[in-house]
Amino acid sequence: MKILVTGGLGFIGSALIRTLLKDSHIEILNIDKCSYASMPEALEGKDSQDNYHFKKIDITNAHDVNQAILEFQPNKIFHLAAESHVDRSIEGPEDFLKTNIMGTFNILEAVRKNLAFLPKDFILVHVSTDEVFGSLKPSESLFVESSVYKPNSPYSASKASSDLLVRAWNKTYGIKSVVTNCSNNYGPWQNPEKLIPKTIMNALTKNKIPIYGKGINIRDWLHVTDHANALIEVSKTTKSYTRYNIGANQEMTNIDLVRLICNYLDIKKPGDAPYFNLIEYVDDRLGHDMRYAVDATQLGLDFNFKPNFLLSEGITNTIDWYIDNLDWVKSKSTS
Ligand code: NAD
Repeated sequence: MKILVTGGLGFIGSALIRTLLKDSHIEILNIDKCSYASMPEALEGKDSQDNYHFKKIDITNAHDVNQAILEFQPNKIFHLAAESHVDRSIEGPEDFLKTNIMGTFNILEAVRKNLAFLPKDFILVHVSTDEVFGSLKPSESLFVESSVYKPNSPYSASKASSDLLVRAWNKTYGIKSVVTNCSNNYGPWQNPEKLIPKTIMNALTKNKIPIYGKGINIRDWLHVTDHANALIEVSKTTKSYTRYNIGANQEMTNIDLVRLICNYLDIKKPGDAPYFNLIEYVDDRLGHDMRYAVDATQLGLDFNFKPNFLLSEGITNTIDWYIDNLDWVKSKSTS
């Protein structure tokens, strides 16, 4: 089984590769442009394995993408390469359109042109986000797979566009594909520009912990290894085109999540004062979505899938990991 992963040096891609490599029958080609968000250290030691290969490729380069797919002839592509940080998309949307839309287009075109050379069971797993559905009010019911796309940020608009390209390349050219829309991930090796590692790092280095607005925005949190396992499951679908929401049904306001982290740090690494005192409410993010939450019932029904991690235990393991790897987190925040 040959599997090509795009963006495999990122937070979720590296977790997926670590999981896949537990099966020695799988051969992996990881293509990644090695951006600021990449972390070769998350795959340390894998380079020496015969069944793991890496190529530095920018998916906006159509020629390189085409060559990689033609030469490797994968059974599956897990497409995760993306510009992924909403704040950066607000400051500079262009890179998001280039990588997330044109990059996906390049992958679809390379598959289309080389379909005759790919294994008969070829499938593309396009990894997307719940943010494509827009924002929910606290009282509204969860997003389902058929919910209308209403993206509110340049990031989510670019991901929504890429989801629609995948659908069109399936309907028009018959490329077997599955699109996944997942809620917020947490776990080891996440870039400290994101809420959980940033909160832990700032607390332990006695810096202010910024919270947007009043901190009442709600997110559903899924452990990254649960996401990786779900992606592997959906790649086994027999359907020509399908979509799955992936979530944990573990919603929490940002302020409650930060409080939980601070309370745990107060026990593990007691400071002079409670870490929660470091909180600083800052101007809200432009277009800040109030709530994301997906209904992942279909995933459970079709693959008997349910997350292994409860947030209450997953978050403490995660905080312990960041405590143990604080130097790495600090180095990523300055790079
Ligand atoms: P990340 O920012 O940690 O990693 C992205 C990786 O893609 C990096 O290694 C980066 O170098 C690579 N990359 C970026 N542009 C590239 C390009 N032009 N060519 C090749 N490689 C490129 O992101 P992540 O959090 O691991 O997210 C992975 C995917 O999952 C994204 O598509 C994202 O939209 C989606 N997703 C993320 C979350 C989340 O909570 N992090 C939730 C749902 C969906």
